[in-house]
Amino acid sequence: MSRETRAVVSVSALRHNLAVARQAAGGARVMAVVKGNGYGHGLLRVAYALRGADAFAVTCLEEAIPLREAGLAHPIVLLEGPYEPSEVQLASRYRLDVVVHSEWQISVLENVRLPRPVNVWLKVDSGMHRLGLPAEDVRSAYQRLVAANSVAPHVRMMTHLAEADDLGSGVTEEQIACFDAVTDGLRGERSIANSAGLLGWPATRAGWVRPGIMLYGATPFDHADPPHAPLRPAMTLSTRINAIYTHRAGDAIGYGGTWVCPEDMPVAVAAIGYGDGYPRHAPSGTPVLVNGSRAQLIGRVSMDMITIDLRHVPAPVEIGDPVTLWGEGLPAEEVAGHAGTIAYELFCTVTQRVRFQEERDAHGTYPDPV
Ligand SMILES: *Cc1c(COP(=O)(O)O)cnc(C)c1O
Repeated sequence: MSRETRAVVSVSALRHNLAVARQAAGGARVMAVVKGNGYGHGLLRVAYALRGADAFAVTCLEEAIPLREAGLAHPIVLLEGPYEPSEVQLASRYRLDVVVHSEWQISVLENVRLPRPVNVWLKVDSGMHRLGLPAEDVRSAYQRLVAANSVAPHVRMMTHLAEADDLGSGVTEEQIACFDAVTDGLRGERSIANSAGLLGWPATRAGWVRPGIMLYGATPFDHADPPHAPLRPAMTLSTRINAIYTHRAGDAIGYGGTWVCPEDMPVAVAAIGYGDGYPRHAPSGTPVLVNGSRAQLIGRVSMDMITIDLRHVPAPVEIGDPVTLWGEGLPAEEVAGHAGTIAYELFCTVTQRVRFQEERDAHGTYPDPV
């Protein structure tokens, strides 16, 4: 038996989630965020599945150029703009939209000669205090960009939300008010919403929405009662049982002996660990599925293995039986909650060792775009 540790990415789930985003967006256009290697699902795989989107957003040239070279003609937005002056040349050559968040980027665009002008999204800091021009500098920055020869007409404006996943926070409304005030009267399309904005804050839809995590089937909300969105998990991470033992009451399981058997009991070993990206911090009690039934991880996560309490799994359980770590039947958000992280990080940290497979429709072909 080979090591069957795999991540199955469902093309139909990605497409379904894009349709959910489009529905929630009303008439707004949808910029699918595929940064971070498509949130760990595979950049080209995801972009091709989501080619019904109106645009793609990525972090850097290394993510943008492969999309162009794969033949995707969509607008592609570099969310952090050029990292150094020379990158605007490549942005122009590959027809990439750049985010402008800093004074130095404006001066570069004022002084550079480009094969063709680039589309610019002016990034406004409306309260997140990470990337973006301070509110008081936005109007003059906008005017300078409009006047720059290397900037294409129709400068656009965007901002990013810091607390949209918390529906009880007043920060999102403050950010909307700030962004509206700062951009009032300026011509150009606008974009505010990430997934949480799109699903939880209708006032953030504006002209373009920028969903990321929801396209992969995870909710951005971490509290009990999120707005309902019928998302489907795009990634199912699974492996198989490679050993089963009966341990005695008092036996300590794994490194550090952090879990001690309270009675004589069956324990399975499954072929996945932090070397595959399964979080080492997942504690005893973290749910897994064995043959589709819920069971609990016990003891420490090793590099290549985990140990599972089989007491409550319907018999028979045999070597080679499937174990699901997250995805279909077990939301990544729930596993993330146990491990003290978020689904975003679980997806991004699945390693190269895991075999990625695509699940297409029953005929093994790509359906038509959304
Ligand atoms: C990552 C990112 C998004 C998408 O956020 P999600 O929470 O995954 O929906 C949107 N906008 C910007 C600027 C981002 O960096």
